Amino acid sequence: VLHNRLVELKGNIRVHCRIRPLLPFDKELDDAASQDSSMPAGVVHAVDDETVLVKCDRPAHALINKTYNFERVYGPAESQHAVFGDVCPLLTSLLDGYNVCILAYGQTGCGKSYTMLGPHSEEECVPARGPHSDLGILPRAAGELFRLISENPSRSLKVDVSIVEVYNNDIFDLLAKERCTVVSGPKREAPTTKAAKREVSPPTRRPVHSAEDFIALAAGSLRLRAQLATQVHARSSRSHLIITATLTTAPTCSSPGVSGVTGLALRETSFINRSLAALADVLGALSERRGHIPYRNSQLTHFLQDVLGGDAKLLVILCVSPSRKHVAETLRCLGLGARVR
Ligand code: ADP
Repeated sequence: VLHNRLVELKGNIRVHCRIRPLLPFDKELDDAASQDSSMPAGVVHAVDDETVLVKCDRPAHALINKTYNFERVYGPAESQHAVFGDVCPLLTSLLDGYNVCILAYGQTGCGKSYTMLGPHSEEECVPARGPHSDLGILPRAAGELFRLISENPSRSLKVDVSIVEVYNNDIFDLLAKERCTVVSGPKREAPTTKAAKREVSPPTRRPVHSAEDFIALAAGSLRLRAQLATQVHARSSRSHLIITATLTTAPTCSSPGVSGVTGLALRETSFINRSLAALADVLGALSERRGHIPYRNSQLTHFLQDVLGGDAKLLVILCVSPSRKHVAETLRCLGLGARVR
């Protein structure tokens, strides 16, 4: 086990990239732009399983011809099943005692919710039933997690879930009785920022006993989040959703305690967003193995400190649009991913 840990530490941050299909509202610009018939429409292409090409040669735009390599690249036709296939081993790691964080990163409209939750996630967040289902990582992971737990009955693992939304550098507890209580990250150090100084409490943790329980809890929070979004214009697209599952062994059990996190969906409108910039800095510092990791620069990174640091296994799924009109953000997103790698 020790040997495995040492070997695996090297590969603790993986970066995957998913290119969503062109959507009707992207199309006009991109069809007109795609003169090269050997390339499908759009300006972002999966050249192979590990390479993304951004190619843009219309005279009105600066010439772009850049490739990026990641551990895995999913083209627009790749299924949710294929994406989950690469996530699945992380659930085994979770039961082996690692902290695990799965994080979708990218501009609004690039497929983060689709990847993490599935289409129409607010209404139809139910367990995946087969390889052709459109359901995303969360419902599939919930099913797999409980399947793995049922295979290890002697370990008496219990699962608690917390769900928070980070918006404007505040953390809202979506499972609190009084809806949307502001909480702070479960940190023990003396707070330094103004925001961190206020009265804080850890987010509510609810026990879940099955994948269905887990998914119902998530679906309820997504509905609450959607309601909040109607109160503040575009709130949900400027906020980050963090779904945390903590695994613990019953105290009487002789096997070691296990804790971990799975399922993290992020949303935002732009890279100007402070917490996203802070997240990029943290990921960069982690990948370069710098001594100082700037977790404290935002509530988002502060909250995620436990799952991003140490020997946590982190999977970043960069979600990008193939459309010409998003190319600047796409390059920024791929650039960040390349830096983290
Ligand atoms: P984000 O969460 O990043 O803002 P969404 O996940 O809401 O973006 O995706 C925007 C739109 O694109 C949605 O209509 C979604 O269903 C669609 N979409 C995203 N990724 C895919 C995909 N891989 N296949 C099919 N449709 C997708």
